[in-house]
Amino acid sequence: TQAHLEAMAAARHLNAYITETPEKALTMAEASDQRRRAGKAGAMDGIPLAIKDLFCTEGVPTTAGSHILQGFKPTYESTVSTNLWKAGAVMLGKANLDEFAMGSSNMTSYHGHVANPWKRKGDPSVLVPGGSSGGSAASVAARIAMAATGTDTGGSIRQPAAFCGIVGIKPTYGRCSRWGIVAFASSLDQAGPMTRSVEDAAIMLGAMAGHDPKDSTSVDLPVPDFRAALTGDIRGMKIGIPKEYRVDGMSAEIETLWAQGAEWLKAAGAIPVEISLPHTKYALPTYYIIAPAEASSNLARYDGVRFGLRVPADTLDEMYELTRAAGFGAEVKRRILIGTYVLSAGYYDAYYLRAQRLRSLIARDFTEAFKQVDVILTPATPTAAFAEGENSDDPVAMYLNDVFTVTVNLAGLPGISVPAALSAEGLPLGLQLIGKAFDEATLLRAGQVLE
Ligand code: GLN
Repeated sequence: TQAHLEAMAAARHLNAYITETPEKALTMAEASDQRRRAGKAGAMDGIPLAIKDLFCTEGVPTTAGSHILQGFKPTYESTVSTNLWKAGAVMLGKANLDEFAMGSSNMTSYHGHVANPWKRKGDPSVLVPGGSSGGSAASVAARIAMAATGTDTGGSIRQPAAFCGIVGIKPTYGRCSRWGIVAFASSLDQAGPMTRSVEDAAIMLGAMAGHDPKDSTSVDLPVPDFRAALTGDIRGMKIGIPKEYRVDGMSAEIETLWAQGAEWLKAAGAIPVEISLPHTKYALPTYYIIAPAEASSNLARYDGVRFGLRVPADTLDEMYELTRAAGFGAEVKRRILIGTYVLSAGYYDAYYLRAQRLRSLIARDFTEAFKQVDVILTPATPTAAFAEGENSDDPVAMYLNDVFTVTVNLAGLPGISVPAALSAEGLPLGLQLIGKAFDEATLLRAGQVLE
């Protein structure tokens, strides 16, 4: 913990943390030492973590990367972070993120951009860490956290993990409690670990997961020993290669890596099988209707009365308007407008309802595919990390980053991003594996072969 606190102080230029909590870290580390001496160490005892600033932490400012939560100190702790502290982990601080987890570059945070610790060979340009869990990914990659929590609504664990060369797993919807996590799109949001290795991810997921009566969508299933699943034996495992994931705009390097990934799994005894997920092309438009619709509803609570920022005004209505105008950034306002529009009378049937139907078809594609295969292999992202400004002026170009990741959230399935190679420019590239519901164990086992 001490070494990490020193490294954090030397790496502030990355802006990976919004709030550092050194005193809390040292107190927790001390308690961990005592437990160890008493022979009562938990599964993650003494492991210093960055917590995405979307998780409510008792008595510690929680901003969701937004101005509107300025001054908000929760009086409660999220279930996932509570589980981690119970396992002995130590909190280093709260990691930066895109505002309300909306973004793919960590550039929408009110608390400033995060720099990716990686750079292209011979090029000083600052690259984005991906998003929305950009601070989490950068902190693990820069060794200023041993691991971090992330949340993933449409790729926010897996895409930044790929951009920063680390492992990220989005568990099955319902595996980790959402209680105490600031909601973006409640039917898609899941918490998960962001780590240096697949083994770390297995340990940390085991500590985070589990049934929680406080989240009605959390599932009452036993949490397997994920670490024990890491046998390295994938002989006979059937690996689906979905032909629809060969999309325009995918870099040649990513395409080569995808084929290489299938070869690596085959060399370890797995069997690649070509499969079809025919509704894949509808996934992005479906996601960008459903996620904003749910966000517009979830973000209605930020009214200047209950949380954080309040801009004083003569009337209540005016106070709402001024607070929300000043408190939300441009991307969040865009999502609220889209969401309100697609849910409004007259447009509901044309947009929201059709998106819900497509969501069912996308989920059914996976159900069919998993009758033939055990896991599905795809690229994690269409490109390596890009520089600030390269992708950021056009929201639709930014949304294309999520083309390989959003299907997994729409179907509620687990997905893992594993760093699998370096690009010619020296940047990490990730491969994604998608698994059957509640079969994270198989994902982790196959993922370890790719790492
Ligand atoms: N990039 C996607 C979005 O902006 C996903 C975000 C996420 O998973 N939280 O909505």
